[in-house]
Amino acid sequence: MSDFEIVDPAFGTYVLGNAPLKQLATGFDWVEGPVWFGDADCLLFSDIPNNRILRWTEGTGISTYRAPSNYSNGHTRDLQGRLVSCEHGTRRVTRTEHDGSITVIADGFDGKRLNSPNDVIVKSDGSIWFSDPHYGIKTDYEGYKSEQELPCVVYRVDAETGEMRVMVSDMNCPNGLAFSPDESRLYVADTGRMFSDDPQHIRVYPVEGEGLGAGTLFHTVAPGCADGFRFDELGNLWTSAGDGVHCIAPDGRLLGKIRVPEVVSNICFGGRAKHQLYITASTSLYRITLTVSGVQRP
Ligand code: MG
Repeated sequence: MSDFEIVDPAFGTYVLGNAPLKQLATGFDWVEGPVWFGDADCLLFSDIPNNRILRWTEGTGISTYRAPSNYSNGHTRDLQGRLVSCEHGTRRVTRTEHDGSITVIADGFDGKRLNSPNDVIVKSDGSIWFSDPHYGIKTDYEGYKSEQELPCVVYRVDAETGEMRVMVSDMNCPNGLAFSPDESRLYVADTGRMFSDDPQHIRVYPVEGEGLGAGTLFHTVAPGCADGFRFDELGNLWTSAGDGVHCIAPDGRLLGKIRVPEVVSNICFGGRAKHQLYITASTSLYRITLTVSGVQRP
């Protein structure tokens, strides 16, 4: 059965004693970027070092969705349900149209190339927000080792005009990001410590019109880092960590953990009621059923 650490009694009501943490597939190198397609009854995710996007379907298991994937990392869906992808290899963010063609959303800023877009979300106004740390150009493992031309920041791309703006510039390595369910706050992880003693925490920024207010510390994940996270309908944040998935209350307190036997990278909610947590962890894909549902569009 699953191994939970219940820090606050509330967490005990979010998990089920008889719901197993299930390893759905394994044998990958480093998986990230899960995104649920209820309309196709499948989950897509990136096996970054192997330069492919994989599809998992109940019953048939794993198949290849796209290879090569330009070393894609994080994914989401826009308001029309189209796949939006971060690509390390081509240093860009793309949209896969309904006919399968690819549209480039962003590949540079100020006349310079992006670093290696890592994680992406879409706001209810259609704007696309993505983090651009340098992980995909630091080595040849998850992309192509190359020169960094821009600082590691979070960008917003306007849905109508395509205008790009820097939204978060006070981080070493912005990584996972998500809006609170009411979109009044943006949460961004700084995973700077992956390569140094730099900061390692989630910061929260108040949304003010189309801009952001000053960020403050929300939570420090330990062990490991908040590579990726999503919100449930109650406003709790479920984040990756070194020992599993951590559930953080709206006030920043750790409520509990789902222990996972591999280092977790990203998570997403899926299933018919968005009550199942899909977990990409190092070499494997896992799933566990919860009593709470995720906030995830569409
Ligand atoms: Mg990430």
